[in-house]
Amino acid sequence: MTWEKAWREGRTGWDAGGSPPILVELVERGELPRGRALVPGCGAGWDVFTLAAEDREVVGLDLAPTAAARFADLRAEKGIGADRARIQTEDFFAHRPEAPYDLVWDYTFLCAIHPGERETWAAKMDALVAPEGELVTLIFPAVDTPPRGEGPPFPLKPEHVRALLEPRWEPIRLEPVTRSHPGREGMEHIGRWRRRQR
Ligand code: SAH
Repeated sequence: MTWEKAWREGRTGWDAGGSPPILVELVERGELPRGRALVPGCGAGWDVFTLAAEDREVVGLDLAPTAAARFADLRAEKGIGADRARIQTEDFFAHRPEAPYDLVWDYTFLCAIHPGERETWAAKMDALVAPEGELVTLIFPAVDTPPRGEGPPFPLKPEHVRALLEPRWEPIRLEPVTRSHPGREGMEHIGRWRRRQR
């Protein structure tokens, strides 16, 4: 089963049709870095559109060409310019941007890749986030066994992400969220990470 096949067959149960409440809240409060942002495994691009702003240019990455088609339709519907929000059909692990990002937002991407790839994910984040930049992870699903029998999604808990990112990153916030998409309540933790000062 490939991601593109799932997209083509409309088996996109992960797509909640909008951004999670915690992201909307962080954006509305103006808490997240401006500048260049990246959303790996962005799917239809909901979070790319939520983050896109006059002072924030957002790149979404997704392996699946069909996700890019969905993204294009949604962007047109929302009337968001390509200067603020675009998608690249590319493997996150192969992504080599011209410059590092001020912000990387990960939701339903780290839990989607095989757990054996998590160390590589962390090393890639080291390379992708600018020295003063921020990595924000909405950690999901904090459960003991994959919700659908076998992953993805693979269980992902705060302690897993902590183990991956420390000692290079420190959490400026790491706590359960109070509001989630229906069906995901009690399974999500927000993590905002900055590089440790040496
Ligand atoms: N974040 C989106 C999609 C989550 S599903 C949402 O919440 O709706 C995970 C997505 O990651 C899928 O669209 C899949 O095509 C993409 N993906 C999986 N592995 C990837 C990789 N190595 N590089 C880029 N995208 C990947």
